[in-house]
Amino acid sequence: MSTFRGVIAEFPHIRIDYFRQQPEHKAPLACFLSHVHSDHLAGLESLRAPFVYCSAATKEILLRLERFYYRINFAKGILESSNVTYDRSMRKLAKALPLDTPTLIELAPGNSIRVTLIDANHCVGAVMFLIEGNGKAILYTGDIRAEEWWVNSIVQNPVLLPYSLGNRELDCMYLDTTFATKKEPYRQFPSKAQGIQELLDKVGEYPRDTIFYFHSWTFGYENVWIALSAFLHSRIHLDEYRARVYGSLSTLNKRQLREAGLDVPASNKPLQESGLEIREAPALCGFRNGNHIQPGCLTSQEDVRIHSCERGMGCSVLDRDSNAEIIHIIPIVTRTDGVDIAELGAGGGKGDLDQKEELESGGVGGMDKLLELCAASIDDERLLAKVVALVRRTLIEDGKLDLDMQLQKHIHDTQDDVLRNGTAV
Ligand SMILES: [Zn+2]
Ligand SMILES: [Zn+2]
Repeated sequence: MSTFRGVIAEFPHIRIDYFRQQPEHKAPLACFLSHVHSDHLAGLESLRAPFVYCSAATKEILLRLERFYYRINFAKGILESSNVTYDRSMRKLAKALPLDTPTLIELAPGNSIRVTLIDANHCVGAVMFLIEGNGKAILYTGDIRAEEWWVNSIVQNPVLLPYSLGNRELDCMYLDTTFATKKEPYRQFPSKAQGIQELLDKVGEYPRDTIFYFHSWTFGYENVWIALSAFLHSRIHLDEYRARVYGSLSTLNKRQLREAGLDVPASNKPLQESGLEIREAPALCGFRNGNHIQPGCLTSQEDVRIHSCERGMGCSVLDRDSNAEIIHIIPIVTRTDGVDIAELGAGGGKGDLDQKEELESGGVGGMDKLLELCAASIDDERLLAKVVALVRRTLIEDGKLDLDMQLQKHIHDTQDDVLRNGTAV
C-alpha cells in the first residue's frame, strides 16, 4: 500500500504517484505515474496540469478505468453514487513514454531532466523511473517484485549500467518497502514461477472438462493468465468492462480484435493511442500474423474453461444458479507451515479490476446510522455480527467499505472447491 507523498527532494519540481495539492510545496512542473493500482492514483482525478508521464500500457488502462463511489445520504434516505473516470483529463495530460529509452523533458526553459522508464516486474505497464539532471540522479521504484532473476536483469539494463557498475552513483533510491521485512512470514516468498508451477500441477489433476474461475482482483495477473491458458489449451473469459480495458493494450483495431474474440464497441479506429508496442499485448489480445488474426489468451466468449470475468456481470457459466462444479483459484502471497497468507491487496489496488466499488462511510456518525439500519433489517444474529464486524473494521481502516470484494471473499472462504496459490501480484 503506497504511503508516499510524491515529493522527490532532489527534483522538487516533479511529483510521482501522488497528485493531491500540497500547499507547502510548489506546484509540480511534471508528474509521473508508475502504474495503475489505485493506491498510486491519489488526487489524479482532479489534476488539471501538468503532464503525467507513464508507460503506454498505464495510459491506455487509465483512460478506461471506471470507479464507482457510493454514499448513503441518511437525510434523504437514498444511496448516492459518483463515477470517477480519468478519460477526460488524462487524454490530454497523460503522455506515454517507451521503456528503456532516455527521454529529455523540459520542465521550464533551461531546466530539463532526463527520464528512463524501466520494467518493474509488478503489473502490466508498471515501471520504475530513473531521473537524471542538474548533476543529480535518483531511481524511483514504485511497486516492484524483487525476484532474484529480475534484480539480475536490471543490472544488465544499458541505461542503468553506469550505476550498477559503479561509474556513477545514485543520490537516492525511492524504494517500495511493503514486504521489505525480515519478519516471518514475509521473510521469504515463493517466486511467481514457483506459484505458477504449483498452480499448473494442481489444475492438471482435474478432469479435462473442469471449469476454473481465477480471482483476478487487480492488475498484475497477466502472466498467470498466459500460463494457465497455454497449459490448459483454453482461453479466458473476461466481462465486457475487463475486455475493454485489456483490449486497449492492443495495436489491433476493433474489427481485428473482434476477430481475435475480444468484443469492444464497433468501429474501425485503433484502440491503442500511443502507437507504442506493449510487450504483453499480443499474448493477451492477439496479433496479426500475415493475413489472419492469431487470438490471444483473453476472450469475450463464455464457452471456455477458464473465467476471470467479474461476478454478477451476467456470464452464463459463472453466474448460473449452481456453480458447484467450478473450481476457484485464489491468489495468496505465501504459505507458512501449511497456512495461507491472503493477499489483502498489500501490493495495492485491491478490487481495481471491478467496476463496482466502494461505499464511503461518512465517518463515525454515518457508521452508527448504518449499524442501526443493519440491526433493524437483519434478523439472522450470526450474519448481523459479521456485518457489524465488517463495518467496524472499515472505520478503523480507511473509512471505505468495498461493496463487492469483502462479500465475495467471505463466500469463497467457506467453500471447499478452492485452490489457493502463491501467484499474488
Ligand atoms: Zn465468465
Ligand atoms: Zn501496485
